[in-house]
Amino acid sequence: MSNCVFCDIVEGKIPAKVSHEDHLSLAFHDVSPKAPVHVLVIPREHVSDLDAATPGQELLLGHLLLVAREVAAKEGLSGGYRVVVNRGADGGQTVDHLHLHVLGGRPLAWPPG
Ligand code: AMP
Ligand code: ZN
Repeated sequence: MSNCVFCDIVEGKIPAKVSHEDHLSLAFHDVSPKAPVHVLVIPREHVSDLDAATPGQELLLGHLLLVAREVAAKEGLSGGYRVVVNRGADGGQTVDHLHLHVLGGRPLAWPPG
C-alpha cells in the first residue's frame, strides 16, 4: 500500500524500534509514547482499520491480540497494561493501518478522554 507509514515500516523503508515480529505481524515502539511503554502491534498486510477487517481475517485479529499479550510480558508489564484500538476520526485514529496500542508502565486513568 503506497502512502502508508506503517506499510513503510513493514517494508523497512522507515526505521522502527521493533519489539516483536512474526510472519503475520510486527510490533514496534510508538514514536510519540503516551506511557513509559507504548508499543504498536500491526498486521504485516495492509488493513486500514478495524471496520475494514473481514470475517476471513478473524485468525489474524486473534493473533494480534495474543501478540499484544506477548509484547506486554516481554516489556515487563507485570503490573498490568491496556490494549487500545482507535477507529475513525472520533476514535482518535490518525494512521490508517490497523494497530493495537499496548500501553503500560504506570497506572492508567479510566475512562480515557
Ligand atoms: P492512532 O492515533 O491510534 O492512529 O495511533 C497512531 C500512532 O502511531 C500514534 O500514537 C503515533 O505516535 C504513532 N506513529 C506515527 N508514526 C509513527 C512512526 N513512524 N513510528 C512509530 N510510531 C508512529
Ligand atoms: Zn499500511
